[in-house]
Amino acid sequence: MHATTIHAAGDIRFEEVPDPQLKRPTDAIVKVTAGCICGSDLWPYRGENRIRPGATIGHECVGVVEEVGSEVRDIRAGDFVVVPFCHCDNTCAHCRAGVHSACVNLGGTTSGQAEYARVGQADGSLVRTEAPADDDALLASLLALSDVMPTGWHAAVAAGVKPGDTAVVVGDGAVGLCGVIAASMLGAERIIAMSRHEPRQELARAFGATHVVAARGEEGVAEVRELTDGIGADAVLECVGTNDAMTTAIGVARPGGGVGFVGVPHGIELPVRTLFERNIGLRGGIAPVRRYLPELLTAVQERRIEPGRVFDLALPLAEVADGYRAMDERRAIKVLLRP
Ligand SMILES: [Zn+2]
Repeated sequence: MHATTIHAAGDIRFEEVPDPQLKRPTDAIVKVTAGCICGSDLWPYRGENRIRPGATIGHECVGVVEEVGSEVRDIRAGDFVVVPFCHCDNTCAHCRAGVHSACVNLGGTTSGQAEYARVGQADGSLVRTEAPADDDALLASLLALSDVMPTGWHAAVAAGVKPGDTAVVVGDGAVGLCGVIAASMLGAERIIAMSRHEPRQELARAFGATHVVAARGEEGVAEVRELTDGIGADAVLECVGTNDAMTTAIGVARPGGGVGFVGVPHGIELPVRTLFERNIGLRGGIAPVRRYLPELLTAVQERRIEPGRVFDLALPLAEVADGYRAMDERRAIKVLLRP
């Protein structure tokens, strides 16, 4: 098949690789209808993660089941499915506790930016829905359910957003923007999006942000404090993963507030003393996508949310390298790829 591979920092190729095969009887092979580039794909692209030269890359996709293993019962060839980036059995103790991203049978999509992807634990992982024939907006929103929307949702859940709250979203990437949707769905009354980029500010407002703060660092923290009468936010969604973003997130949280973090941490040093003195709670991690899928899928189907609007560039899969460049240079929020 044709797939996206990474050979070194900045070296994305679209080339022929072996087709993925059923490895376990619980696997399925999915023919990708649409895939996309994740903000976290930029870490290896920028040389900040170790790279295995020639490895396929991409963990977000939706598609049609091509083939299933002998122990797969519920999912059938021909089903249109949302593929959560982390695969899980949906039955083990961790899944039952809602931490599907720590499933004892955890796996992950490794060729989402390709023609085919293997999915482990197909019955537990995959969520079937009607194929969005000729509806690109619906397709985009279903694709957003494979990672970015549930991750933004997880940030809001981890931060403890509840009705009436003031929520701050740090990060105006696709996850942050989905975090705005999530905070709004969970009933936050004031949603402050921290963003310097006009098109992203606009989308944040469309998704439910009531305020936008463009300033960063200490200045940004001061502006949020002013907007909240010096109190700070009840819930803060940290959707970047850098030390600056975490410092800002903790800085804008009110005493007793919560910070939910979903950005893959890179070089973060936690000010434990500050957390202690101000009773700030911190939780988060890899989103248990499968846990949230039923609820979010219904919201998409009923057109209550349109997370697919984070895709502002669609390219043929063969032009995937251009997509990485566009996201790296922040010319695109998120890139959708069609084989
Ligand atoms: Zn499990």
